Amino acid sequence: MSTTLIAMSIAAGIVAFLVINLGVLSLLSGAFHFLFARPKFTVLRSTLGDRGLAFGHKWNAAREPAKFDKVKLRFFNPFGKPTHVEIEKEYDAQTSDFAVDLDFGPAIRDVLETTNLDDASIQFELISSKDGITHQFHYKMRKFLEMFNQASETAEDFNNTYKYVKEKPIYVTESRSFIADALPEGEVVQIALPTNPAFAAAFAGAGGGGAKEEQQENFAVAKVWIEDGCIVCNACEDIYPEVFEVLEDTCIIRPEAPLNDGLRILEAAEACPVEVIKFDKA
Ligand code: SF4
Repeated sequence: MSTTLIAMSIAAGIVAFLVINLGVLSLLSGAFHFLFARPKFTVLRSTLGDRGLAFGHKWNAAREPAKFDKVKLRFFNPFGKPTHVEIEKEYDAQTSDFAVDLDFGPAIRDVLETTNLDDASIQFELISSKDGITHQFHYKMRKFLEMFNQASETAEDFNNTYKYVKEKPIYVTESRSFIADALPEGEVVQIALPTNPAFAAAFAGAGGGGAKEEQQENFAVAKVWIEDGCIVCNACEDIYPEVFEVLEDTCIIRPEAPLNDGLRILEAAEACPVEVIKFDKA
């Protein structure tokens, strides 16, 4: 083997190894995210002035399906003013990652302008009233104000990026009518069907019942017998019970079987799936 061929084989092996490892890593990270990713709260920039507060909420809706429709804000400040504020707001139920911009009323101003930041804290409870699920997010007030003052993304920006829009059509179904247009007045049109006598010649010999089948003359049979291999399917007895009798493990010809209707015996022979019915014409 030439040196170039060996080098190419090694390179191909390395590439295959890297591709397989990347695939495995990506699968593992997806599974890790599905199983262990925690709900996330993002402080956003409100567009509702000094009474507004906007936030985004992300969670694994596939693992924890819920309709979030309420937020409870709890502010604690044991050594400052105000000492305790609690505000509850409702919004339209959301089933996947979402952001809302809500009017929390005048009390939110006091919360955001509080002093004694070292001991103050704020808590958000995002609640799914119907499913009984609550996601809690707790921040030191200093940290929260830092996020609040640095927020540049609005709820609309967040929703444009993360929110799943269910109404998006995946494909469009066109409506069609299968009713043919009316024939032009006065024009006689013949439809080429096997049952239309005008087209009998065209369908002759093609099967399907259009042309009349050639009548076959009946005949008598001198002898009929069954060879080895019968699978006791009953087809022959169903067609001509006066001649064929199906037993437990084979088929026999009845002792006094009439042999004058050769066409029915022929029909039974043609219906036999293993072709063991034989006969001689008289
Ligand atoms: S049709 Fe053939 S296989 Fe079926 S029972 Fe009759 S002889 Fe046997």
